[in-house]
Amino acid sequence: MTETEKRPKDFIRTIIEADLRSGKHSGVVTRFPPEPNGYLHIGHAKSICLNFGVAGEYGGVCHLRFDDTNPTKEDVEFVDSIQEDVRWLGFDWGDKLFYASDYFEKLYDYAVQLIRDGKAYVDSLSADEIRAYRGTLTEPGRNSPYRERSVEESLDLFARMRAGEFADGAHVLRAKIDMASGNINMRDPTIYRIRKAHHHRTGDAWCIYPMYDYTHCISDAEEKITHSLCTLEFEDHRPLYDWVLDELATPCHPQQIEFARLNLSYTVLSKRKLLRLVADKHVTGWDDPRMPTIAGLRRRGVPPAAIRNFCERIGLAKRDSLVDVAMLEHAVREDLNAVAPRYMAVLDPIRVVIENYPDDQVEELDAVNNPEDPSAGSRVVPFSRVLYLERDDFREDPPKKFFRLSPGREVRLRYAYFITCTGVVKNDAGEIVELRCLYDPETRGGDAPDGRKVKSTLHWVSAAHAVEAEARLYDRLFTKEDPDDVPEGGDFTDNLNPASLAVVTAFLEPALAAVAPGTTVQFERLGYFCPDARDWTAERPVFNRTVTLRDSWARIEQKG
Ligand code: ATP
Ligand code: MG
Repeated sequence: MTETEKRPKDFIRTIIEADLRSGKHSGVVTRFPPEPNGYLHIGHAKSICLNFGVAGEYGGVCHLRFDDTNPTKEDVEFVDSIQEDVRWLGFDWGDKLFYASDYFEKLYDYAVQLIRDGKAYVDSLSADEIRAYRGTLTEPGRNSPYRERSVEESLDLFARMRAGEFADGAHVLRAKIDMASGNINMRDPTIYRIRKAHHHRTGDAWCIYPMYDYTHCISDAEEKITHSLCTLEFEDHRPLYDWVLDELATPCHPQQIEFARLNLSYTVLSKRKLLRLVADKHVTGWDDPRMPTIAGLRRRGVPPAAIRNFCERIGLAKRDSLVDVAMLEHAVREDLNAVAPRYMAVLDPIRVVIENYPDDQVEELDAVNNPEDPSAGSRVVPFSRVLYLERDDFREDPPKKFFRLSPGREVRLRYAYFITCTGVVKNDAGEIVELRCLYDPETRGGDAPDGRKVKSTLHWVSAAHAVEAEARLYDRLFTKEDPDDVPEGGDFTDNLNPASLAVVTAFLEPALAAVAPGTTVQFERLGYFCPDARDWTAERPVFNRTVTLRDSWARIEQKG
C-alpha cells in the first residue's frame, strides 16, 4: 500500500471525489500557476505535488500556466528554471503549457464586454486618490467621480489606453461592483493598468496589462479547469473570482478551493525575501544549497522523492501552521538511507601509524555499498600502514562514556581490523599530531576469531590513497525558528546564521573520486554528501553536505 492509500482523504480530494460521483465533472483538470518572478521553492512544491498529484490520481491532467501579467518583474530565466524544477520533481504537463499572456487579446475583449454591460469603467483618479477612496476595513469606500462615466466614454478611453495615448497611471479600468462592500477586494478593483514596459513574451505589443485577479479566473475558465486550488490568502478574492466569471457568463466556471500554504521553521519562503538574499549576496545565487528553492535543494543533494514524500506527509489543511524543518530533513534522510551508497571519508584527519603493519603492503578490503540494499553490491577499499582517522574519534583522556579510540583501547576499523592505540606523538606545542597503533592480523574483515568484542567501529582512509576534496558543510540559513522575529527596526537578514557554511578539506577513499554530480552518497558516520553540480571537477572534487545523520525529527516523533 502506498502512503496515499493509507491516509484518510484530505478535504480537497473529498470534494473532487464527490464531484466525480455526482457527475458535476467527468474528469479532473488542475493547474499550477506560478508567476515567473523568481525560482520555485519548497512551498511551491506543496502546490505542485497537490495539483499534479490529484490530476494523476483521478486520471486527469494538470496544466503548467505562467501567470505573466507583470512585465517589469518577470524574466525568461525564471520561466526556464520553473519548467526544469517541475520536471525534476517528477511531474509532466505534456502539451499543457500555457501563459496568461496567451489570453491578452481575449482578456481585452472580455474587458470591453464588461464596459458595454456597464460592469466596468475607466477611472482617472491617481493611484493615491484611488487608495484614499477605497476606505478601510472598518469604513466603506467612496465612489470615484468617474464611476458614472458613460459607456461610450469608457470604451473610447480604454481603446486609447491600449493605443498608448496615455502615460502610466493616467487611467485604469475598474470593475464596477460595490464601494461599500465589506470585502475590500470587491470595492471596484482595478482590472487593467497602463504599463509601458517590454514583456518577455509579447514584447511591445501591449502597454496595458490585466491584473492578477481578473486574469486568473478567466485563464482558469479558458482552460476548463475543474478545481482551481490556491493558498488561503486568496479566500477573500474568491467573491471577485466568481463575480468576473458570472458577469462574463463564461462557458466554464471552475471552483476555487483554498488550502494552507506551507510555512517552514528556520526558513523564509517569500519570493521577495529570497530575491533579497540573492541580490544582497547573502547567498551565492538562487541555487545556493542553503536556499529553500527547488534548485538549491537539488544542488544540496536532496532527491525529488524526498520532497514528494515530505509534501505528502505534511498533508493539507485549511488553517495556516508552521512545519518543523526537521521534518523535511527527516524525509531526506529516510529516502537517502534506502538508496545512498556508503563510502568512507575523513573530514578532520589525524594521522595513525599501524606499527606492526608492513611498510610496503597494501590490502584491498571488501566493503558493503549499502547495508539497506544487498543488490548494491560491494567495492574494495585500500588499507595500508598509515591511515587517517577522524580527530574527534580519539581522546587521550577519555570521559566515562567515550568508547572510541584512546590509549590502550581496542576498536574496530570498518571492514578492516581491530587496532589498539599504543602511543601518542605530540608537536612542540603539545598538540597531538600522530597516533601509534598495533593491529591484530587475525581480525581481518572486522571480527575476532576468539569472539572478543570492541565497543566502537570507526571509519578511516588510507593516507597514501586518499583523494583530497573540498567539503562544504551546510547548516540552516537562519538561527531563529521564525526568521522574521526581529526587534523593532530590524530585518530578517539580522537572523542569518553566520555559521551556515564551513569549508574543510576532506580525505576520500579512492572510489569516491568516481562519484560525479547527480548522486548523493553517505560518508559513513558523517552524513549525506553530493558532488557539487557547479564546482566539482575530477581534479578537485567538491562535495556538499546534504544533511548530517542526526535526526532530531525521529526523536521528536518517538517522544510524542
Ligand atoms: P510570494 O507570496 O512569495 O510572492 P507566490 O505565492 O505569489 O509567492 P506564485 O508564483 O504566485 O508565488 O505561486 C504559484 C502557486 O504556488 C500559487 O498557486 C501559490 O498559491 C502556490 N504557493 C506559493 N507559495 C506557497 C507555499 N508556501 N505553500 C503552498 N503553496 C504555495
Ligand atoms: Mg502569486
